[in-house]
Parts: sequence; C-alpha cells; structure tokens
Amino acid sequence: MAELSLTGTTKVFKDGGDEIVAVDNIDLDIEDGEFVVLVGPSGCGKSTTLRMIAGLDKPTSGTISIGGEAIQDRSPQERDIAMVFQSYALYPHMTVRGNMAFGLEESTDMTDAEIDETVTDAAETLGIANLLDRKPGALSGGQQQRVALGRAIVRNPEVFLLDEPLSNLDAKLRAQMRTELQQLQDDLGVTTIYVTHDQTEAMTMGDRIAILDGGRLQQLGTPMECYHEPANVFVAGFLGEPAMNFFDATVDGATLVSEEFTYALPDEIAAKTTDGAEVVLGIRPESIDITDDPDSSEGIPATIDVVEPHGDENAVHLRLGDQSEPTLTAMIDGMRYLASGQSVRVHFPTDSVHLFDAESGEAIHNRQLTNVDRVQEIGTAQSAD
Ligand code: ADP
Ligand code: MG
Repeated sequence: MAELSLTGTTKVFKDGGDEIVAVDNIDLDIEDGEFVVLVGPSGCGKSTTLRMIAGLDKPTSGTISIGGEAIQDRSPQERDIAMVFQSYALYPHMTVRGNMAFGLEESTDMTDAEIDETVTDAAETLGIANLLDRKPGALSGGQQQRVALGRAIVRNPEVFLLDEPLSNLDAKLRAQMRTELQQLQDDLGVTTIYVTHDQTEAMTMGDRIAILDGGRLQQLGTPMECYHEPANVFVAGFLGEPAMNFFDATVDGATLVSEEFTYALPDEIAAKTTDGAEVVLGIRPESIDITDDPDSSEGIPATIDVVEPHGDENAVHLRLGDQSEPTLTAMIDGMRYLASGQSVRVHFPTDSVHLFDAESGEAIHNRQLTNVDRVQEIGTAQSAD
C-alpha cells in the first residue's frame, strides 16, 4: 500500500510527422488506500495514463512516484503494481488455478505450497473457490472477470490499476460487480485507480473522481463536489444523466439576456459577473420547477414536447418560447401528470443555477454543496434503517 503521485506527467505520441498529446501535464495525488476513478470520453488519455503508471508506456516528461519514490524509469516488473484490463486475456489451456498462480510462479520465490495457499485465499475472497479446476472456456463472463481480478490480487501489489474491467459484462452483472469491487477494494485497502468512460460508474464507485478531457485533468474531487461544484462546462455537462441544460447569455447589469428568456440574477451571483460578459447559464434537470397553473405569469413560458417516463421520475423535454426544437430537459416527480403539447411555465431556482465563462468554460458561480445538505441528510436517513 502506498500513495501514488503524478507530477507534470505528459505523453506525446509521434504519428508520422504529427504529434499526439495523449496526456498533457497531469498532476494527481492519490492517497494510500484511496479508490480514485479516472473518467472521461473515449480517447481522452485514460489508458495512456494507466499504462505510464504500470510502466508499459514511458512518460515524455514528468514524474510518477509510489510511496514517495520516483518509479518512471523502472521496468514494469520492478513496480509493485497489478493491472486488470477490459479483455481478461486468460490462458485458455490452463485451469483457473493455473491462471491465478502463473504470475507468482514466474516472478516470485514463493514455494508451491505458499502459492497454492495464496491462490486459494484469493479465490475464496472472490467466490470462485469451486471453479479452481475449470478452464476459462467453461466459465461465464463474470466468472472470467473474477479470475482476472484474482490474478491481480494474489500479487498483493501496492497499487491496483483497473482499465474498464467491467465493460464486457451485461448491465445487471456490471452493477453487481461494481458493488463487489468496491467492497473488495475496501477490504484489501490497496490504492486503486479505476478507469471508465461511464459517468454513472465514476459517480457511484470513487472516493474521488478525476475527470479527464483532451489529455488534461479537468477536476479532481469527491463525486458530490464534482457534480455540484463543477470546475467548468465540460465537467458540468459530463456528469449527470440527463445532462445539465446550458443557455448562452449576455450579462446586462444584474440580468441575463439569452435568446429564449431574460433571467434576474440575485446580487450574490451578479457581483461575480461583469456587464456585457458572455456567459453560459447551467441548470440541472432535477432543479427545474414546472408550473402548469394557466393563470401564472411567473417563470418562462414553455411547451411540453415529450414526456419520457422513467418510473420514479419522468424526463420532460420542453420548448422554450417559440423555439421549434426542445431546448430544455426537466426531471419531475413520476406521480405528476404532464402531457405533451401542454403549455407550462418553467422556473430556475436561483440557488441551483450555475454560471460559466463562455470563452474559457471556467465556472463563475456554482450552487454550493451546503445547499444540498438536505439531500445528503435524506440519503443518510434512508440508509440507516
Ligand atoms: P482512452 O483510454 O481515454 O480512450 P487513450 O489513452 O487510449 O484514451 O488514447 C489517448 C490518445 O492517444 C488518443 O488520441 C489515441 O489515439 C492516442 N494514442 C494512444 N496510444 C497511442 C499510440 N501507441 N500511438 C499513437 N497514438 C496513441
Ligand atoms: Mg482506454
């Protein structure tokens, strides 16, 4: 177990005459025993980052250290790291026992009896002790993935690197394995980086999440921090399903003027902007209030385009003003009746709006985590009984 640090870590690939900056000057400090999820769209540099930590790719510049020692010049074998990939790559002609023992036989001076005990222990932890004499071909996808994890666990590494390990599993098994993996990591207490492109996986699994885009680290924080206090438009739009709604607007005194509406900013937010600034207003679907009282004159007039039932909540797609396309998605209580074609008014509560600089994308104002204390309290109360 150890802390893991990346400092100015950069990887540039040469492709003919072109240079591809896969990982761009990343600083990342991961605590001993922490579970960090590295998340971002395909091609953002996640695998390259893991491969550099594992020693499979050499950084173009920057350092990587484990437990305070720089390791970027060490071979993969000299690093105390185990990596699990999306493809299990088990040896088909070997039994589960053989697959799990193989790395130990090759790279340690453990006796056969010690190896056997280590493999049996890991198999019990993973619930595959009854499969030790089977070949991979006789296992389900979930069981194969457990063997791949077992192969990593038996090495008792200082750091685990997992690259989209659940992507080949069906949705139900994936959800189950997520919980199991979290539990396992918690029990083993090994510093872990888990890579995924799936924001739900990132939100639900990580102690902290590191969000990557275009090779650059966009934000590192707890899931709640990144969700409620996104550093920029990219993070705000990446986390959350359905995604945050965005509107281009210009600041006019204490009013936002967009193509679809004007919005009065409270003093606290207005003080953070400058007159004439181009901004982006962000509001999460679940923060929007919808009034269907025909006599109301407050809020922004809108027409419901489609109601998409999710069960507990429904996604409502709306057209604002005289727009021809839906420009807004709101989540409303599943028991509330709203129909397509209905005229309504929408409200953006001032304590839930976000403002971003239109040019840089950086956050100017976020809803504060303290405003969502109530949500956390409800969550705690439910899980306590
Ligand atoms: P992710 O895992 O987030 O999908 P990768 O780390 O695999 O992304 O890739 C990041 C970028 O680096 C991509 O643009 C990819 O095409 C490029 N890349 C990755 N490996 C190589 C390589 N060996 N040679 C050239 N370009 C590469
Ligand atoms: Mg990848």
